[in-house]
Amino acid sequence: MHIVALPAFRDNYIWMIHDTHRALVVDPGDAGPVEAACKAQGLELAGILVTHHHADHTGGIVDLLRARQLPVWGPAAETIPGMTHPLHDGDRIAPPGFHLEFEILQVPGHTLGHIAYFADGGPGKRLLFCGDTLFSAGCGRLFEGTPSQMLHSLDRLSSLPADSRVFCTHEYTLGNLQFARHVEPGNTAMQDYTQWCLRQRAEHQPTLPSTLERELHVNPFLRVSEPEVQAQLTAHAGHKPADRIEAFTLMRQWKNDF
Ligand code: ZN
Ligand code: FE
Repeated sequence: MHIVALPAFRDNYIWMIHDTHRALVVDPGDAGPVEAACKAQGLELAGILVTHHHADHTGGIVDLLRARQLPVWGPAAETIPGMTHPLHDGDRIAPPGFHLEFEILQVPGHTLGHIAYFADGGPGKRLLFCGDTLFSAGCGRLFEGTPSQMLHSLDRLSSLPADSRVFCTHEYTLGNLQFARHVEPGNTAMQDYTQWCLRQRAEHQPTLPSTLERELHVNPFLRVSEPEVQAQLTAHAGHKPADRIEAFTLMRQWKNDF
């Protein structure tokens, strides 16, 4: 199984999963890059997975369905064009012909119906397609949900096996790391990762996928309970956060204003 990033718009990635014959795409905001990749590699598009309703994740679906009939999996709680398989928390799906089974995780916060797709293929073969919930060194903005919902969603994702590869849908990593290093100036994992990301981007390569293992070290939104992060939040806010929800709320606000 191959997984490739198809760049779209300014900083989106449409993830394409293929076996050299057939392909699934995740969050096709634009049909153009998907059609081009199918044509260039001789792939037949076999299905579409959607994490949430935003146009940069769904805008290409109608065009992709013009020439073909396809299963479209997506969040039951949101309106997704062409959706054939509305999904709920805990559902399991196995796209026909792919040796993959995804478990659906409801992860509200960025949007209320947002879902993530987790495939547990055993050690080294775990895949998490998390849309705009978890980014490398960051997290999605709270457009619809509350900080408490988002924190709970991030807790669910970050408690998956650490070797899970994390396929985020935006190339925000270097910008996120600027903020992360500001929050934790002494964090050497953030510094080393920044150097690696700079080299990747200089070669026009994605910084993604990440891994949960890495995110636990470099993502300030997964680190709100760490004593050094708590100290920084206290200094920034002028008071000690009362609990993890307030700590997360302060972190999200700090990043929004950064
Ligand atoms: Zn979004
Ligand atoms: Fe997005």
